[in-house]
Amino acid sequence: MNEHDSENIAGMLESMGYVLADDPFKAEVVVLNTCSVREHADKRFYGMLGQFKKRRDENKDTRIVCVCGCMPQQPRVQDEIKKSFSWVDVVFGTQTIGDFPRLLNDRISTGKKQFSITANNSIVPDEKESKRLHKHKALVNITYGCNNFCTYCIVPYTRGRERSRKPSDIIAEIESLVKNGTKEVTLLGQNVNSYGKTLEEDQRISFAQLLRQVNKIEGLERIRFMTSHPKDISDDVICAMRDCDKVCEFLHLPFQAGSSSLLKKMNRHYTKEDYLDIIEKAKREIPDLAFSTDIMIGFPGETDQDVEDTIDICEQVRYDSAFTFIYSKRRGTPAAKMLDQIPEDVKHERFERVLEVVNRISGEKNAEYMGKTLEVLVEGTSKKNEAVLTGKSRHNKTVNFTGGDKSMIGKLVQVKITDPKSFSLNGELVKYIL
Ligand code: SAH
Ligand code: SF4
Repeated sequence: MNEHDSENIAGMLESMGYVLADDPFKAEVVVLNTCSVREHADKRFYGMLGQFKKRRDENKDTRIVCVCGCMPQQPRVQDEIKKSFSWVDVVFGTQTIGDFPRLLNDRISTGKKQFSITANNSIVPDEKESKRLHKHKALVNITYGCNNFCTYCIVPYTRGRERSRKPSDIIAEIESLVKNGTKEVTLLGQNVNSYGKTLEEDQRISFAQLLRQVNKIEGLERIRFMTSHPKDISDDVICAMRDCDKVCEFLHLPFQAGSSSLLKKMNRHYTKEDYLDIIEKAKREIPDLAFSTDIMIGFPGETDQDVEDTIDICEQVRYDSAFTFIYSKRRGTPAAKMLDQIPEDVKHERFERVLEVVNRISGEKNAEYMGKTLEVLVEGTSKKNEAVLTGKSRHNKTVNFTGGDKSMIGKLVQVKITDPKSFSLNGELVKYIL
């Protein structure tokens, strides 16, 4: 979501005549798009801001520094910026991105600092001006914000209430992307399964219906989506995944914790059994489905038995990959006030324990691909070796392969896997699909 906001901001700047700089420290206008989902990102923001101030004070390249994203969306940070970082030229939030060109122009023409943060939960930004990071795969927002208020999470406070984009706007954007060479889209939302709820009745369709509509777009090869909240994934979505040939055999379904009592405390609205039922259904309908997830370790009150439940889910589902996070206290969320916080050393020990299981299973899953031929969308050359191409399979595996050349970038090819690694697959080109 944050990456796609950056694409939108870059697109606006390009329309205004700016050109992307290779090195942010050499840029005249710097836009710091911030994240605040965990404390680490929060800290990095202040560090970076200090570095840009130094360059600006020394009159080295940097002239204008803008700050946007989830950090300034919080009242505490707004106060901090006004008090300690009042030199920042332009500040805007997650819901005022569309104002950025005007704010920047006003800053330049009037010399006055600009500050525009609102919590207007009804804004659905215009997405036309996005500057895509990749030509062949694109992120496409379908919803903004979140209504779920998981007790650890700051997103509903920084991104506002859930709003759905009109299906006609989504389809038009994807059609235009495809005309310009996009082969793969990822439909984005904090909870894609609740898509459509805020739409006018005459336009309202479900996420499953949206998948079926996007699947009809000619020239599009692949559809991905994230994130699916387990409490809202319907049988219709699983059936649409099964029926739509363009929807990739990959499901990112965060479970956070294996213990049903911890899930209740997190306000996730499903139990361990509910979650495993969904996985079983999905495996039954789409036998070749790959899974990934988000796991949180160290939520307040977590016991060793709770960690065993988390490990048990990992063993039962056998994820191809997983994002593992150590719980980070976010001011303003209900969990931050819970009294049974877990000590840092205990969190780290548990985290290592879970990570070991996750990594072992990822390696075992990858080993199963030995000798198989996979369709790969080529993204570029390997960082380590120009003669090796790299791309993603439909299962979202990174595949590095020999036997191809740079003309294949952005194309679909068939690769035979000869050397599966823990976190990627190595192989050889078999066929070039035009
Ligand atoms: N909407 C998505 C998640 C978006 S945030 C969903 O519900 O699945 C991405 C991930 O960050 C979450 O799944 C969670 O695992 C992690 N996360 C969110 N808040 C966190 C916190 N306070 N500490 C640690 N991890 C957190
Ligand atoms: Fe955060 Fe929960 Fe919303 Fe995901 S569903 S963004 S974890 S509140």
